[in-house]
Amino acid sequence: MIITSKQKQSPVPIGIVLFLALLFAAVLPHQASAKNFSTVVIDAGHGGSDKGSNWYGVYEKNLSLDLSKRIQRILKSKGIPTVLTRSSDTYVALDKRAAIANRKSHFIFVSIHFNGHRNTSYRGIETFYYPGSSKGRQLAGKIQHELGARIKTKNRGIKAARLKVLRLTKGPAVLIECGFLSNRWENNRCNASWLREIIAEEIVQGIMAYR
Ligand SMILES: [Zn+2]
Repeated sequence: MIITSKQKQSPVPIGIVLFLALLFAAVLPHQASAKNFSTVVIDAGHGGSDKGSNWYGVYEKNLSLDLSKRIQRILKSKGIPTVLTRSSDTYVALDKRAAIANRKSHFIFVSIHFNGHRNTSYRGIETFYYPGSSKGRQLAGKIQHELGARIKTKNRGIKAARLKVLRLTKGPAVLIECGFLSNRWENNRCNASWLREIIAEEIVQGIMAYR
């Protein structure tokens, strides 16, 4: 090929191309790591002297701790840093739980509970967020969506509620009521480890969808 004087000027456009390539190389990884959170704070509801719901010999505090540890294990396997507000059967006040979360800078807060009601026909899963928190609402929606799609019980949806632990927590915060222990059928299911494993998987799915 004959090289004309015009083609000899090609180093200028090549320089621009190289510059743009370097720019994208510098910017893209940063965008890819710009996630909605770095750490998941998992809050096992109740504990110690605070038993939570207590029906048919099943204690909410035990199921919430077991489920929280399952969620932690699955998140860890995905390389997501986690913090538990309690890792044993101990009492931790609500303000202490929020304080543990607030020590982190870029976190979401996921509080794990099981429900109870004197009307023992009530059953199902619902997720709460603090009123006015759009990020909390978004996170609640993602988690409830996954749970509703897989867990064969009543989908009670997401609800705004002025819950103290959600109010005190600075990051996006949700509280999941994973089933009614007061309902015999749901009590048996929630007390079974296979169901808690599926609930844990779906909560993590929701968390990853939010991320
Ligand atoms: Zn509870």
